[in-house]
Amino acid sequence: MNRKKFIKTSSLLMAGGLIGPQIACSSSSENKAEMLRKNWAGNYTYKAEKLYEPSSLTELQELVKKLDKQKALGSTHCFNNIADSPQNQISTRKLNKVLGIDKEQKTVTLEAGIRYGDFAKELDEAGLALHNLASLPHITVAGACTTATHGSGVSLGNLATPVLAFEMVKPTGEIVQIDRSNPEFYGLLVGLGAVGIITKITLQAEDSFQVRQDVFQELPLESLANHFDEIMSSGYSVSLFTNWLDQKISQVWVKRRTDKELVDLGSDFFGAKAAERNLHPIVELSAENCTEQMGMPGPWYNRLPHFKMGFTPSGGEELQSEFFVPRENAVDAILALEKKRESINPELMITEIRTIAADEFWMSPCYKQDSVAIHFTWKQHAKEVMAILPMIEAELAPFAVKPHWGKLFTVSPETLHARYSKYPDFLALAEKFDPKGKFRNSYLDLNIYG
Ligand SMILES: Cc1cc2nc3c(=O)[nH]c(=O)nc-3n(C[C@H](O)[C@H](O)[C@H](O)COP(=O)(O)OP(=O)(O)OC[C@H]3O[C@@H](n4cnc5c(N)ncnc54)[C@H](O)[C@@H]3O)c2cc1C
Repeated sequence: MNRKKFIKTSSLLMAGGLIGPQIACSSSSENKAEMLRKNWAGNYTYKAEKLYEPSSLTELQELVKKLDKQKALGSTHCFNNIADSPQNQISTRKLNKVLGIDKEQKTVTLEAGIRYGDFAKELDEAGLALHNLASLPHITVAGACTTATHGSGVSLGNLATPVLAFEMVKPTGEIVQIDRSNPEFYGLLVGLGAVGIITKITLQAEDSFQVRQDVFQELPLESLANHFDEIMSSGYSVSLFTNWLDQKISQVWVKRRTDKELVDLGSDFFGAKAAERNLHPIVELSAENCTEQMGMPGPWYNRLPHFKMGFTPSGGEELQSEFFVPRENAVDAILALEKKRESINPELMITEIRTIAADEFWMSPCYKQDSVAIHFTWKQHAKEVMAILPMIEAELAPFAVKPHWGKLFTVSPETLHARYSKYPDFLALAEKFDPKGKFRNSYLDLNIYG
């Protein structure tokens, strides 16, 4: 039985919002193995025995209060065990409504389990937009905020930065409302699932805008090194893609708002040539599912992500890692990794390089630091990839590298703690909000409590 079929069968067998393997499984051991629930990429099998899918706030509060060990589960797009629990997972899949759009205040209030792709069009139709999106729109708003998920843009903060307020269920089942006036706001929102289950989020939106996307190919690495800031500032949001070979950045995606004065980028962009057709970041793959390029203007939600809303990006046969360094060290960091191309390339599908503006979230890798993020989409060869990561982390250690919380890394807890100046405050906050450790799992035990 495949994963889709399992989910369908399981929902038929669902009782009171609980999907338990003990209910859904047939007796054969082979089927039992197939019934194991995995993350989106399929590289991690959740150990939590039970999965609950509450469809109301009250139902969720009761579960949180009643259950012992538990963890919120969004759209399962993390590549590690951050969303797992030794006992129970509580999916926010059914908490997915738009609760209100305030055109005057330019805000949108959402249930936390909604995915960006599920409300972006409605927001746009109300004349509003979000400042930025991640590369794909299939992730939940709460899952993205709590792991400091980001897009690209020198002046654009991560996806938690437009949050004005949120509602969270504490381990006791009580609800707390937290807004920016609360001194703990910046500790709790990027909370790695350690402090509570977020149920409602209000985002600051802005007037809707259109974006055009122009792609350039074969940017010489030397040109990038000499003009990094100019290149990354040439658009509202810029992404670089490379396989690290040939001293080239294979593609530069420049996303520009059409409500700003636009200069003609020409056909020669710092030595890169304008693409003559839509491209997939991996040039050999079909661009059918990628957002429209070739300078064709379109709504923000159809240009800021790389992949179209209505489309599932791939079967998930990949792994991902991503490393943040201060933007001022971007070129040195990129050149350090380029020297390791022979080790990196065989396991690599593609690297993406993006910029993120500094923010105030205690556990954000961009806390008070304009950053560049160097991302790796790997082949799904876990053993080989895990063997490469320490080398990458060592190359980037001089820049106090921080890994993406939701992707694969091997940086030690001690090193992580030393690189987060607000770590002691976050630890105290986690202990205060979850004194009995209901939300603790092996990921938090290692990386936060360890
Ligand atoms: C194809 C692909 C592309 C990606 N692109 C990007 C990208 O462009 N930029 C980027 O930064 N990352 C990217 N990611 C990583 C991804 O966005 C993050 O890992 C994000 O956390 C996934 O959200 P999710 O809803 O799937 O969360 P899950 O993986 O389900 O959970 C992640 C964490 O959030 C917690 N959580 C979930 N819901 C709640 C809640 N309601 N309250 C409290 N905690 C909660 C979970 O407990 C867990 O700790 C990508 C991942 C994939 C697979």
